Amino acid sequence: MGMNTQGRPTRMAENIATGGYADTVSGSRGLEQAEPLIFERGNLEHCGVDLPEAKGMPTRLGGLEREGVIGLSGLAEPEAMRHYVRLSRKNYAIDLGLYPLGSCTMKHNPRLNEKIARLPGFADIHPMQPASTVQGAYALMGELAHWLMTLTNMPAVALSPKAGAHGEFCGMMAIRAKLDADGQTHRRRVLVPESAHGTNPATAVQCGFVCDEIPADATGRVDMEAFKAKLGDDVAGIMLTNPNTCGLFERDIREIADLIHEAGGYFYCDGANFNAIVGRVRPGDLGVDAMHINLHKTFSTPHGGGGPGSGPTVLSEALAPFAPVPYVAQTEKGSWHLIEHAEEAEGTPFGRMAAFHGQMGMFTRALTYMMSHGSDGLKQVADDAVLNANYILARLKHVMTPAFDGSCMHEALFDDRFLKDTGVSTLDFAKAMIDEGYHPMTMYFPLVVHGAMLIEPTETESKGGLDRFTEVLEALALAAKSGEKDRFLAAPVHAPTKRLDETRAARQPVLRWTPPSDDLEAAE
Ligand SMILES: *Cc1c(COP(=O)(O)O)cnc(C)c1O
Repeated sequence: MGMNTQGRPTRMAENIATGGYADTVSGSRGLEQAEPLIFERGNLEHCGVDLPEAKGMPTRLGGLEREGVIGLSGLAEPEAMRHYVRLSRKNYAIDLGLYPLGSCTMKHNPRLNEKIARLPGFADIHPMQPASTVQGAYALMGELAHWLMTLTNMPAVALSPKAGAHGEFCGMMAIRAKLDADGQTHRRRVLVPESAHGTNPATAVQCGFVCDEIPADATGRVDMEAFKAKLGDDVAGIMLTNPNTCGLFERDIREIADLIHEAGGYFYCDGANFNAIVGRVRPGDLGVDAMHINLHKTFSTPHGGGGPGSGPTVLSEALAPFAPVPYVAQTEKGSWHLIEHAEEAEGTPFGRMAAFHGQMGMFTRALTYMMSHGSDGLKQVADDAVLNANYILARLKHVMTPAFDGSCMHEALFDDRFLKDTGVSTLDFAKAMIDEGYHPMTMYFPLVVHGAMLIEPTETESKGGLDRFTEVLEALALAAKSGEKDRFLAAPVHAPTKRLDETRAARQPVLRWTPPSDDLEAAE
């Protein structure tokens, strides 16, 4: 039997014998098409387009013509199109259903954003066009910068970072540049709470710092005594998420900011969870020095396979001079231009984050979202996001175990105590959700609670939608408790791909396709 290196049978007919995708001749089920890899589907020796040889034309390649096949799948346009559409139908999307991934803010992306982003004046321009021909685009960037600075009460923003993690990199590079400029090169220790997103320690290390972990207290927040004990003159700063990844507001945030400043360090705030406080809390008022904002979370630009991220980073007065180039600026007469080089900048930029100015399409969508909501609408976003998460907490706390007492912010965190002695794990529970038509919540994160299940409904889900969702989770929790373990261990049974060997997938990822070995032998 032919098996590809991914361990799947290479021929459809073998699916039946091996209990492959489905109990049908073709491997498809209903109108859901089984789809092999594109290399298995196509013919590696043919070209997808059929062009006649150019007769009587001298080659101008000077002996550099390709001699062998290049091994690309020779599919015609409709075949290539179908391949990707079939794959996309196996995918889950925010336009398909509730996407409760905690810390990811999978909210609806309003269609108005798409309409505006497709206007030719924004969509069909090139970053190397002369400034005089793209004044509107620069003005849009200036307007977006204004909104971001106003919402955060911060004096500067770098628009170019292309994701949250990239924004963290920008903020921490600014902190490093400031420390170096002040001769504080011995400050290399960055304090990071245990509940932090994995990108925080990764960023700190990437910027040449070492991480020092602060434990959480019994309420899920920064342990203040442990934090104070870690302050010292080698501390560069703290990276803190607020609301934190337990979905809780850090009550002592003002004191944390004051203490880190007194110790000579800077306060990096991970703003990925800004959705919970937008329009209500301005991070600048909390003493933050740098914070990235995920436009693809709070400001509803598509992400998670739907589009690129964008992570503008706001900076305090102290860090603003180190902001990276390029950025937009306006002359006294009102025309816009890009400050491209350090020599033209007012301060001393630490460098450049990207070849061009950032994700124009995301800037357009985010500004559309801000302007269509207005300041009152953005405040309501935060209010409703928090209300929805607390509704989930209230509806489920009798059958699942909330990790901490009291209400939450924009996401509800449960641990696995309710599954004790059931033989069902957090992973099994999440897999059973797939059979019920729901994308699982974030699992096993944050690390501070055992078997974490972090649910972020966002403000764009209706009460009816949340009722249906919580009814399913309630029924699953009761099923687990009443001993229906086998159903969980087998799940998902209705998905196109069943339970995967996740350990093997993580430890021995197969990232490159190679022809099935027996086909090779036959060819030889
Ligand atoms: C999403 C997220 C990030 C990283 O954002 P990316 O755009 O995925 O790089 C960082 N921190 C927190 C808390 C997040 O939720």
